[in-house]
Amino acid sequence: MKAAAFLLCLASIAAFPAPVPEEFQSRAGVVKITPIQHGSLTLAAGGNVIQVDPAVSGFGASDPDFGSVPKADLVLITDIHEDHLDKASLAKVRKAGTTVVIPGAAAGDVPGGVVMKNGETRKFGAWIIEAIPMYNLKRGPAPGELFHDKGRGNGYVVTYGGLRIYLAGDTEGIPEMRALKNIDVAFVPMILPYTMAPLEAAAAVKAFHPKVVYPYHYGKSNLKNFENALKGTGIDVRIRSWY
Ligand SMILES: [Zn+2]
Repeated sequence: MKAAAFLLCLASIAAFPAPVPEEFQSRAGVVKITPIQHGSLTLAAGGNVIQVDPAVSGFGASDPDFGSVPKADLVLITDIHEDHLDKASLAKVRKAGTTVVIPGAAAGDVPGGVVMKNGETRKFGAWIIEAIPMYNLKRGPAPGELFHDKGRGNGYVVTYGGLRIYLAGDTEGIPEMRALKNIDVAFVPMILPYTMAPLEAAAAVKAFHPKVVYPYHYGKSNLKNFENALKGTGIDVRIRSWY
């Protein structure tokens, strides 16, 4: 290896690891999905880029630089918490004409954002976006309180060329998740105390049976428990490096 190439190699190891896209075939062409960190990821197809929850979570060994990810045509924000709505990172992925879809609770922080309520569906070019409830059933910061109240945040089902991608957001294994149909690719959180444990997540995933599932927003959770619980179901569990 030439010295210059070796130095370049060292430099890239020191920086936040370059994310590797996952590819899925839709009727309208390939959809590329790139994990960034924690709850942040990129969807790309047909010349469009969607950034999901661009935010510095503080959970990773190093922080992603949203100045170096592709600028978004569409941004999907799930919730008001700072690991999902981070104004500085959001500003970095925006360009002239970027549409930012938000739950109503984020309206004060994202002027000009397009508010979607749980249960609403909207079309953005070739993309269909459905807002799905995301909330805690039982976990909260104090008795009688929940970390995520029903109706505040949005999970999303994103459809492109018939390919259905579920972004669960911060949620427990709620009935609305269990009732989902025809999900090709699912991103499901598992982190305590804010969402759910890996075994609870696995039980909910079994109920709606996506073709492929990625644990995301998992912190230091034991993903082996999740993986083992889904063995023999035919669901393709894909563990990737999100931190
Ligand atoms: Zn979160």
